[in-house]
Amino acid sequence: MPEKLAIVRTVAELRHAVAAYRATGRTVGLVPTMGALHEGHVSLVEGALARGDVPVASIFVNPTQFGPNEDFAAYPRDEAGDFAKLEAAGCRIVFAPAKEEMYPVPMLTTVKVTGVTDGLCGPFRPGHFDGVATVVTKLLMMAMPDRGYFGEKDYQQLQVIKTMVRDLAMPIEIVGMPTVRESDGLAMSSRNRYLSAAERTTALQLYREMNTVAKTVRGGRSSCSEATAAASKALLAAGFDKVEYLTVVDAESLQPLDKVASPARVIAATRLGRTRLIDNIAVD
Ligand code: AMP
Repeated sequence: MPEKLAIVRTVAELRHAVAAYRATGRTVGLVPTMGALHEGHVSLVEGALARGDVPVASIFVNPTQFGPNEDFAAYPRDEAGDFAKLEAAGCRIVFAPAKEEMYPVPMLTTVKVTGVTDGLCGPFRPGHFDGVATVVTKLLMMAMPDRGYFGEKDYQQLQVIKTMVRDLAMPIEIVGMPTVRESDGLAMSSRNRYLSAAERTTALQLYREMNTVAKTVRGGRSSCSEATAAASKALLAAGFDKVEYLTVVDAESLQPLDKVASPARVIAATRLGRTRLIDNIAVD
């Protein structure tokens, strides 16, 4: 039987629950999520367990990281299902605050990371990374973990958080965890629930095309711009409504590359019906 999961709703309760583990000499790993949990989220809890941390998850659909025309209201919510998955995975504390607990007074402070937010999703989602950096800072300050676990699925977000923690000297190690995929290769995402059956079939082409790009540009063999243009064209032909970007970037700075010489990622954001799908893979 998995040990019982403590469900806490307030910052005071969270700090109390974390302190009880710390008093026994344990380290703590925070897994921030927006809920609608799947195996990708569970893998982050497992990452914390593998490093000996007491896993603490948070579930909060953060309004400040959604644009006015984005899916905040429609975002899937399944608290009871999420708690069951967390308990089964071995998570020990879940922090599931109301909006009023996270934002009790109007915020006069924003954490803004520049550089790594300039390209990719940055221009398509104005204010998004400010919302993410600010809420993650709050969650880190509330839980004060030894480590924070984030998925490579949201690769730009991971670089934003690593940059923020480095620049602000937060005494927290950020651990990036590999993307968990469905058996056919589609990256798991809470937003995959929006896909119709036909769109679900089409969605798979994104991973296929990214792999073709990675194979083509590996070792500096071919120009990235030609390979990514061909892949974008193929996605539109397959039924994608829009390719916001599909590009090859330096794995750390996220600057676009035309010939691959350093560690690189193929990274993309697309639209398929009402769903925005993002994904990325390593080139090597
Ligand atoms: P979200 O609930 O979508 O905000 O995601 C919470 C965390 O889970 C983030 O660090 C994501 O990068 C991570 N995550 C989401 N999907 C996956 C996946 N398929 N594999 C690994 N991590 C993931």
